[in-house]
Amino acid sequence: MSIRAAYFDGKTSRRHQVILTVEDGVASISGEASRRCPLSQLRVSEASRHGTRLVTFPDGAYLDIEDQQGFARMLAATGHTDSLVSRLQQSWRATLLAALAMAAIIALLWRLALPMAADLVAAMLPSSVESRLGDATMQALDARLFDASRLREEQQQRIRTRFSTLAGSTAGTPHFELLFRKSRIGPNALALPAGRIVVTDELATLLADDEDALMAVLAHELGHLHHRHLVRRLVHGAAVGAAGMALFGDASGLVATLPTLMLDLHHSRNAEREADLYAARWLKAGGLGAASLAAALERLNGVKDDGPAYLSTHPATAERIARLRELHELHELR
Ligand SMILES: [Zn+2]
Repeated sequence: MSIRAAYFDGKTSRRHQVILTVEDGVASISGEASRRCPLSQLRVSEASRHGTRLVTFPDGAYLDIEDQQGFARMLAATGHTDSLVSRLQQSWRATLLAALAMAAIIALLWRLALPMAADLVAAMLPSSVESRLGDATMQALDARLFDASRLREEQQQRIRTRFSTLAGSTAGTPHFELLFRKSRIGPNALALPAGRIVVTDELATLLADDEDALMAVLAHELGHLHHRHLVRRLVHGAAVGAAGMALFGDASGLVATLPTLMLDLHHSRNAEREADLYAARWLKAGGLGAASLAAALERLNGVKDDGPAYLSTHPATAERIARLRELHELHELR
């Protein structure tokens, strides 16, 4: 039993007039093109609006069949009707379901598994890798945002000594190194991987008359170090890039985002909250209060000329000030 059909190779638009024959579970075409294929490997579409039906080969070539009655009789005669017919009816639903399931799995991996895996990797990161991350970030910042500090040596030394004294009075202070830089981003302080805390000249100058407030801002940076916020974000960013590369096969995106990733020092609200809580405890242990951090944030909030640099790297300031005042009132900070 055979019917007429049009064969397209899937690569060119050329139409080949052929005769389709089905025998012993194998479909074969002959005429302007010829090939054979087991029926089980063919996919049959539902009838299209033009009343034609497509039979697709595994390599994307397809047959356009107008004689549907002849085709149905042919399938019935071969005993393959059931499976083919049920596939006809369910193929689009199955495809849609599979696509939805795939999207759900990807979304789940993206939202949950990826951050967890990234945190795990960050936690196990050898210190040599972490210090290289720190070096690379410092170099990127020095190249784009920082110049050598113009603060007087005595002022730098006074700040260092005071901060080290406070750190000495609190057990478990993370390893840190204080660096001063003149910046193009105004008053700010940044905690980099492996323990560098950068203080901008502008911040030291803004808070020159309130050293407790400056200590409080640095304590907040210690909080970022303690929770390793930036390391975790860098690893997470790299993981997202790598996962995107695996999914979409595009490495150029990952390579292009790495330098920006290094300079994107923005923290999440949650990270800010964790760093503030750490700072509040640390300050209390050193005989200062969380209110000194709130006071510093109010001063930083008032800085308009240099733009919202501190706010963009440490968001949610208003919320933080309120929370810090509450923390200051709490006597049970442990
Ligand atoms: Zn922060």
